[in-house]
Amino acid sequence: MCGVIGVWGNGPAIRDLYQGLLAIQHRGQDSAGVITFDGRFHAKKGNGLVHDIFTPEAVAGLRGPIGIGHTRYPTIGGGGDEDAQPFQLNSPFGLIMAHNGNVANYRELRDELYRDQHRLLNSDCDVEIILNLFAESLAHERMKNLEPEHIFRAVEAVYNKVRGSYSVIAYIADQGLVAFRDPYGIKPLVLGVRRDGLVPAYAFASETVSLNIMNFGEIRDVEAGEAVFIDRIRTVHHKRIRRGCHSPCLFEWVYFARPDTFIDKVNVYKCRVNLGRSLAQQIRRMKLAIDVVVPVPDSARDAAIEIARKLDLKYSEALVKNRYIGRTFIMPADAKRRSSVRQKLNPIASEIKGKKVLLVDDSIVRGNTSRAIVEMLREAGARKVYFASYSPPLRHPCVYGIDMQTKTEFVAQDADEEAIARKIGADKVIYQTLDALKKAVQQENPKIRHFCAACFDGIYPTGDITPDLLEDIEADRKSAHDAQLELNI
Ligand code: SF4
Repeated sequence: MCGVIGVWGNGPAIRDLYQGLLAIQHRGQDSAGVITFDGRFHAKKGNGLVHDIFTPEAVAGLRGPIGIGHTRYPTIGGGGDEDAQPFQLNSPFGLIMAHNGNVANYRELRDELYRDQHRLLNSDCDVEIILNLFAESLAHERMKNLEPEHIFRAVEAVYNKVRGSYSVIAYIADQGLVAFRDPYGIKPLVLGVRRDGLVPAYAFASETVSLNIMNFGEIRDVEAGEAVFIDRIRTVHHKRIRRGCHSPCLFEWVYFARPDTFIDKVNVYKCRVNLGRSLAQQIRRMKLAIDVVVPVPDSARDAAIEIARKLDLKYSEALVKNRYIGRTFIMPADAKRRSSVRQKLNPIASEIKGKKVLLVDDSIVRGNTSRAIVEMLREAGARKVYFASYSPPLRHPCVYGIDMQTKTEFVAQDADEEAIARKIGADKVIYQTLDALKKAVQQENPKIRHFCAACFDGIYPTGDITPDLLEDIEADRKSAHDAQLELNI
């Protein structure tokens, strides 16, 4: 999961990019980067948060009305400075690119690019694969200026080779701004327009919230398998190049996206309220004695309020979050994750002591965070701790851009609800069903017929994730994880 933005405005693009990136900081806190263009490229990227990297001095150097920005959450690669996006190539024309997603056949394509095209990738970042395949196709066109069909052919060349999920934004110097989404549309990407000059300004972003904050309207999704090309005179061309079965990532509504964002026309907040409602029905049937409903901040708040409202129970924000510590799930190494829970959350003991608490969270991944929170509530004097997850058990690796790529890391792997409760120290664990999760989204947009739910049900919508590939990804992830642990020691 990363955040990506591309802007072609009527003033300095960095003004928009900075605001837009702040709005999607939650999608990646590992690094941030921007490259702008005013006849030449200007780059600033590095490890850290948006406001740390883009100091007034850095912003002053990012000149030009066009730019691409990125916040990174590492999947492939150890997460060094050299892996920060966007990436740049000087030929053909000069190209910059950033993406959100994950190239599942990274290893195979990296070796192939070197062997067949003599292209050496200089980082562990998978967008370099897409950038080089795209550039290789454009290089064969030998045109003074690129036409839409050249761009669409280059996107098709990417589709022909790259497995996985990818929402991509690129700019080709003096030729135009390009965006495309993989044939299954797994990761979100939206386009907006702002009519603030003689010609319209355009922006692409991972989440609608960035477009709202940058004052872009007329928002639409880039479709699955579609490429959009904004040419030299800002005429918009688009083409549905591949028609895969549109399968948006269910976990975006559960956890990743901001509540004020719309994904495939479904508001994330509304979806979480629906999830709270359906979970409340399940909890009612269990006839548990509950004194207070407590959310794990921040993502679980909307669902927990609805659970308390539906069950007529007291709601209390008895876990207080230190906002200046990063999101635990997206911290790259387990050791960092474990130690940061205690720094991040602190209970209000008076709200907990002697109470039977229904704790609500978005999910249970590895169980470390959940266990630490349950322990915290017990230390604060809770009589009972029931743990409700408003998403189903996570049991399968995500190969599409989320840092859960090894089967063994899931607490729910080969475990039923009783065993999971024991592992995290709770009196009971309650999960949302997958059916209810899908319905919570479809209630808001019945046109969404399919989803990626692979981490819940093990069915990979792209249909090309073989057991061998899963093993390769798992091995890569383990070695990156070990390297990270060594760095932390
Ligand atoms: S496997 Fe899960 S997290 Fe990954 S893209 Fe699919 S639904 Fe999203």
